[in-house]
Amino acid sequence: MYNELLKNQINKFLGKNISPEVRALLDAIDLSYKNFITDRLLLEESMQKSAEEILEANRKLKEESVRQKDIIDKMKRLYSLNLFDGDLQNEIEDEDLFYVFEKLAELINWQREATLKLQKNEANLTGLIENTNESIWSIDSNYNILTLNSVFQKSFHQLNGHLLQVGECILSYLDAAWLDEWKNYYDKTLSGSRFTIEKVFHLNKENRFYEFNFSPIVTGNKVTGAAIFTRDITARKYFEKEILEAKDTAIAATRAKSEFLAMMSHEIRTPLNGIIGVTGLLNETELSGEQKEYIDIIHLSGDSLLTIINDILDFSKIESGKLELEEAPFDLRSVIEEAFDLLAHKALEKNMDILYFIDPGVPAGIVGDITRLRQIIVNLVNNAIKFTDYGEVFVSVSQLNVEDEIHELQFAVKDTGIGIPDDKKARLFNAFSQVDSSTTRKFGGTGLGLAICRRLVQLMNGKIWVESKLGEGSTFFFTLKVPVSDAAPRVYVKGKLTELVNKKILLVDDNPTNIRILEHQCKQWGMIPQSAQSPKDALQLIRSEYKFDLALIDMVMPEMTGLELGTEIRKYLDIKNLPAIMLTSATLSGEAERHVAQLFNATLSKPIKQNQLFDVVTSILANRTPSTGTLIEKKNIKLSENYPLRILLAEDNNINRKLALSMFEKIGYAADAVGNGLEAVDAFEHKQYDLVFMDVQMPEMDGFEATKNIHKTKTKTQPVIIAMTANAMPGDREKCINEGMDDYISKPILLKDIKEIILKWGRVIVEKRKNAKMQNEEPLIIDPKAIANIRELDDDDDSVVNTMIDMFYEDTPSHIAKIKKAVLEKNFEDLSFFAHGLKGICLNLGAKPLGEVCLALEIKGRTKDDSGLTGATQKMEELYKKTCDELCKYKVL
Ligand code: ADP
Repeated sequence: MYNELLKNQINKFLGKNISPEVRALLDAIDLSYKNFITDRLLLEESMQKSAEEILEANRKLKEESVRQKDIIDKMKRLYSLNLFDGDLQNEIEDEDLFYVFEKLAELINWQREATLKLQKNEANLTGLIENTNESIWSIDSNYNILTLNSVFQKSFHQLNGHLLQVGECILSYLDAAWLDEWKNYYDKTLSGSRFTIEKVFHLNKENRFYEFNFSPIVTGNKVTGAAIFTRDITARKYFEKEILEAKDTAIAATRAKSEFLAMMSHEIRTPLNGIIGVTGLLNETELSGEQKEYIDIIHLSGDSLLTIINDILDFSKIESGKLELEEAPFDLRSVIEEAFDLLAHKALEKNMDILYFIDPGVPAGIVGDITRLRQIIVNLVNNAIKFTDYGEVFVSVSQLNVEDEIHELQFAVKDTGIGIPDDKKARLFNAFSQVDSSTTRKFGGTGLGLAICRRLVQLMNGKIWVESKLGEGSTFFFTLKVPVSDAAPRVYVKGKLTELVNKKILLVDDNPTNIRILEHQCKQWGMIPQSAQSPKDALQLIRSEYKFDLALIDMVMPEMTGLELGTEIRKYLDIKNLPAIMLTSATLSGEAERHVAQLFNATLSKPIKQNQLFDVVTSILANRTPSTGTLIEKKNIKLSENYPLRILLAEDNNINRKLALSMFEKIGYAADAVGNGLEAVDAFEHKQYDLVFMDVQMPEMDGFEATKNIHKTKTKTQPVIIAMTANAMPGDREKCINEGMDDYISKPILLKDIKEIILKWGRVIVEKRKNAKMQNEEPLIIDPKAIANIRELDDDDDSVVNTMIDMFYEDTPSHIAKIKKAVLEKNFEDLSFFAHGLKGICLNLGAKPLGEVCLALEIKGRTKDDSGLTGATQKMEELYKKTCDELCKYKVL
């Protein structure tokens, strides 16, 4: 700075803090003085010239300093008068200086405005901070207060007894009780974290909840302090509490509703059981036409009442979110076939075909809830049959795409029925919605079926919709997203079998869809199908040179029935030269049945199950007797002749007891009956029973308690206990099994249910009895119950049991060898490893004695105990032989 004097004066005048802009101007002034000094130097130089000249120069310098003083004075005056923009030009003649002052004036004005703005902002901010109800404060990195509002000041004072001021260190005045905690929060914020905490303070005799927001103050890229903002959240907290309480009340109410529904369902089902059951029994007695008609009406009404109860129960279960889907592997084809089984009689009444086709790309086994998928299919197919008078119902399954191993499948249920008007389509899937009330009167229904389907499909990550043309028919579509099950597809689903490859098969059916499906299936098995859509065409083909190995003929066809066609065929070829299978959907009269037996090798009832078709076709071509769908089915053989069982019934309801006893009588059993659990347990004191049908809800002692007590009684063999419940809530079955029961049927109990149970468990009991006799009460080599459980995995054939037994034969010899080797070499690690492996295989198949020896060997291996190893190994070999022999009896050929 050349002109320190001027700088000092300006400093003095404007105060110490000169802004950079003013400084820049001072530099500019500097520059002008630099010029002045140059002038002076020039003058000094001229000193050498003459005294007058020097004096003159000094005089000029003096004048200049006076002028400067004068200018500063003027500036000061003008500034104090706020007149910087006035007659500056007149006051300052020097052009350079004028420029400097002009800029300086601008800057001073700007600075003044900025200061005013800042003051205004500050005032606003202070107003804001002060006018809020919340506490606000900030501290610097030494915990000294930078800002605080009076709310904070007040509450701090209330809690810590000190009126905090700006500049004071907050930690010095904090109550010792929370000093550490708060220091922690400040330190966390000062290290850059932003967070929120909640705290409760007891103020003015009440609990108040506060939320504290901690934010670091960042200057440049350094944390220079912490700002804290609190909010009183007491109201919100109380509100949240109220909401939670309301939620709990709602949950309790829903639970009460579900329990009420379950109870109502139980209460309604119990008398319904009586109605449906007794009408079923009555129907089998001698009745006049009129009586039969009345009985049919009662039966039908009972059935629809049951459907309505089931629908409502289901709907409310789904609505209350109680419905949980199962995740288990199952065979897709079986689901459709089972659904068809349930509805075949309805289609038969209307003389309609129900058909299905699964695209070859669709996985055979999927993972999901089989019951619920079946329910959707049954619902849609049932509707399709209900709203169709002529034609067919066709179910098809295709695959839309695969993503992350999840397969999206599309199901379509197509009918040729009355169709649905466009304006009604959207509403169909709402609860209680029907196209028009007159159809309800005609067809019945609750309007809940499709609503349930939609919810179920949504639960399975899919969607449902309909395409339909009035008068032409409807197609209901739905999609599902499912993982694929690893289980190997069954033989009948895929694969060419030597027995079938290149065998020529004639397919005769007037229904083109059925022909298409049959053709596809036969081709998949490697056969060569030829189709005829009329008996005439079929006869022409048979008369030609073409030699067929097998014919598949539909019973009901226009022009000529399957039976007439059969008679015609036999004029050319006998049963040996052209074996034939009859496809029937109608029940044949005794006369027709005999006639069919002479002309055909087997009958299959429609809808055709693929495994049955496979079984019958392979059996005929291999010259065997088929195990399913055979023509000559022994009828009216009482179950009791095949399975003589001692049955006990425990049921408290008089009507239901009588009803069940009559059902047992129908199939040849004289069951004993008791009215409660206590009597059931008592009955075991006097007699040994094989099978107990146990009502779950009974007075005195319920079914679960009774089951436990029966298991405790010292009987030679434990009975098989079947639970009977009127509840239909999820988890019922599991509960019964967990309580020690063997199986479960839900009310109303139908004759068909009892027959199924006896067929399933009768075999187990009889086999067990035989074994017990043979082995003189020795433990069973194979527990038939375990085999029965495996069989349950496969309702259509025994392939799972067979496969497991085959695997046992294949895998176990190496285990035995390795165990023997380990014993010989005293390799305990190998011994425990292989004994453990064999034990697992044994237990899966119910080979308990062998499993137990393996366990003993495994323990010896684990504990490195070599005592009695040889004996145990010998025992293992002995039992292994017995197990192999015994297992072979369970293989179904
Ligand atoms: P419900 O059949 O018990 O009345 P749904 O929810 O299953 O209840 O069906 C609702 C309505 O949708 C039926 O009443 C009928 O009007 C219509 N509907 C359903 N399926 C079909 C179909 N395949 N063809 C024609 N109308 C149908």
